[in-house]
Amino acid sequence: MPYTFNFDLTKVSSGFFTEIAKIVDRKRLHRKMGKSFRGLVKKFRLDEITGLNISDAVSLVEDFVDIQIKNIVNRERFSKAKKRALFLPHCSRKYMDNRCKAKFDPNVPSYFCQHCSEDCLIHQATLLGEKRGYDVYILPGGSCVTKILEKGGYEAVVGVACGEEIKLADKILEKLNLPGQAVPLIKNGCAYTKFNISMLKNIL
Ligand code: SF4
Ligand code: SF4
Repeated sequence: MPYTFNFDLTKVSSGFFTEIAKIVDRKRLHRKMGKSFRGLVKKFRLDEITGLNISDAVSLVEDFVDIQIKNIVNRERFSKAKKRALFLPHCSRKYMDNRCKAKFDPNVPSYFCQHCSEDCLIHQATLLGEKRGYDVYILPGGSCVTKILEKGGYEAVVGVACGEEIKLADKILEKLNLPGQAVPLIKNGCAYTKFNISMLKNIL
């Protein structure tokens, strides 16, 4: 049913939409939308395609929505930051064995891509990040986050990881009072994982 009135919000400050996202986030409204999320799961046959049971598929959708809302809420502060880090997950490398030529520096600790494979997601994401002025880290685990952020004096961070790791990283960023933007994995499993490179490109 179309609106019975016309409107044009193009002159309304983008802060308006951020405020809406903040209210949704603060009141955790998206967590109360179980029924709608269940409908979404059914509509896109998420359970059939992934083999997940309905409640796991719904909690995945909840996490994705959570991540999107937090991205909107933090976007303004993030955009003003100058020194930024990009954290990539080691599990998205094309190879998880010695065919991956990434160098590991235990003092950081991080892997650094040596660009052995054009079709490796981490290679592509590293190039994108460096081109946009980010310091890029390929993390072996979430426990390295605090050390790197404090040592590097970063003002903002973009992180690619599974929803569970993103939740843990959120807590760290809250403690350090840093704005973050997250890209969730679309295939998890701790090896040969995948994320959407276009989504990362937009966020960077
Ligand atoms: S492109 Fe980089 S991350 Fe990917 S397998 Fe090669 S060295 Fe490892
Ligand atoms: S799937 Fe998640 S927990 Fe597993 S290695 Fe990747 S980011 Fe870490």
